[in-house]
Amino acid sequence: MKKGTLFVVSGPSGCGKGTVLKEVLQNPNLYFSVSATTREIRPGEVDGVSYRFMSDAQFEAMIAEDGFLEHAGYCGHYYGSPRKPVEEHLAMGQDVILEIEVVGAMKVRETRPDAVFLFILPPSLTELERRLRKRGTEEEDVIQKRVAQAAREIGCAKDYDYVVVNGELSKAVEEVNAILCAESRRAQKNLEEINEVLEK
Ligand code: 5GP
Repeated sequence: MKKGTLFVVSGPSGCGKGTVLKEVLQNPNLYFSVSATTREIRPGEVDGVSYRFMSDAQFEAMIAEDGFLEHAGYCGHYYGSPRKPVEEHLAMGQDVILEIEVVGAMKVRETRPDAVFLFILPPSLTELERRLRKRGTEEEDVIQKRVAQAAREIGCAKDYDYVVVNGELSKAVEEVNAILCAESRRAQKNLEEINEVLEK
């Protein structure tokens, strides 16, 4: 059976990657990996849907039992991708999306060289800061920390396979979908299909 493709999507906080992915995830053949985190829940977030919110102790226990495909510290909290659901969905032939920051992404690059890496850029750092303020979920010092962090993360974008600028949402969604589609049509991933044609 054809295995699914693992897509790793990064982008600084506030670049709108959540909004882009929400549209992309209308495709029922995509599975979004719900991360675990130790950060506090934000208004509007739902435990088990946005993230699996857990304590430091719970997170560390999961690290100890090798329960994460990758994990990293970000702005003073743990974030990690639970291994089991990702591997199960890939085995079932479903494409899986991990929405993670750059350190975790580069760890995945080492262990899963077959994964596809996509970075979502904001149109500018100024626009990113404006979006973070508009969201109104963080204190000013956290916003400043996240803007500085964003600049560092954008410096890693060149190590990804693809970059998409989220200026106009519909264009960004179209571009991400085009990347997903092209990757699923790679010849090496469709050898069975080629053989089937030859047999008919
Ligand atoms: P936020 O707190 O704004 O939801 O996320 C902060 C950062 O953590 C974002 O860059 C997001 O992509 C990243 N992140 C979310 N889940 C994971 C994960 O499972 N692993 C890693 N390494 N980063 C994650």
